[in-house]
Amino acid sequence: MQLIDNYNRKHSYLRISVTDRCNLRCFYCLPKDEDIIWKPKNKLLSFEEIEKLSRIFVSLGVDKIRITGGEPLVRNALPQLLKSLGKLKQSGLKTLAMTTNGLLLAKHAHAISQAGVTHLNVSIDSLQRDRFEKITGRDQLSDVLSGVEAAVKCGFPSIKLNVVVIAGVNDDEILDMIEYANGLAQNRSMINVRFIEFMPFVGNGWNIEKVIPYTQILQQIESKYKVTPLKAEPSAVAKDFAVDGYDTSVSFITSMTESFCSTCNRLRLTADGSIKPCLFDSSEISLRDLLRNNTSEEVIIQTILDALKLKPEAHEPAEDLAADYNNRSMIQIGG
Ligand code: SAM
Repeated sequence: MQLIDNYNRKHSYLRISVTDRCNLRCFYCLPKDEDIIWKPKNKLLSFEEIEKLSRIFVSLGVDKIRITGGEPLVRNALPQLLKSLGKLKQSGLKTLAMTTNGLLLAKHAHAISQAGVTHLNVSIDSLQRDRFEKITGRDQLSDVLSGVEAAVKCGFPSIKLNVVVIAGVNDDEILDMIEYANGLAQNRSMINVRFIEFMPFVGNGWNIEKVIPYTQILQQIESKYKVTPLKAEPSAVAKDFAVDGYDTSVSFITSMTESFCSTCNRLRLTADGSIKPCLFDSSEISLRDLLRNNTSEEVIIQTILDALKLKPEAHEPAEDLAADYNNRSMIQIGG
């Protein structure tokens, strides 16, 4: 059995949010006017529940799992969960990945790497202390920088730096990010900088003027460096380029200007146990209560397949998404 939707897209990539809590307050992720009401712990999936669902998803053809949040490293004993998910490599999982804001990475990088995470994305939107604080609500850039350094030392096979580019906020740091990544990468592994177009979620202050299209980011990059397009996998969301002569590559996540719905192979599992087939669509089906009612595995699988049928062919245009009050915020969905 495979995870194929109504539009013949095969799903092999599951993003699991392990918590809705975060130790940063990024304005574009956490809605400004929404009181921070974290879900009670008993509403979140336990490690055992995440492990069980992951095993089921892998049996249905998922070969890549990314752990995200909220901030995954604020969840107690996370390496323990990673370790048991790492064991799914014996049953078909090929890639165990994680996205983090890096604040607690210096402490945990080694354990995460030992647990089997090979692909690590660290979010860092500014290299300027004041600006970092303005964006994230915390004066903790130095912790992120130490975290990234620790991760580089641990030798993760893939390290990517996620940068959400927002007009008038950090669009003057694009070249600085490349220099920073190159400085880190020297004599170690290649580091990739992923420039992400600012996406609309309810209450996150998005408007089209704040989106810097990837073509403009690329133009800025080409004003200083020679770049060469890299061949992408069919379901890749990023457009990748080598920076000639540098130990750095750059990528663009072009959700706003060139969406990639037709090749989307992703599903999300929210921290409170709902399967969400599309980031920009409010449809979700809870698996948590099924798990807690001892529902049979056949019924859980059927529910996953039913959820897949809710996946739209493509998401709505950006302007309409910004006004979709039914969709959850990024922090609640899991980025
Ligand atoms: N706490 C972790 C982190 O900061 O990387 C993982 C969760 S975070 C929601 C995952 C990614 O989503 C981050 O790289 C973040 O920058 C990105 N993100 C959140 N809101 C976004 C938005 N409105 N537009 C584009 N990217 C966004």
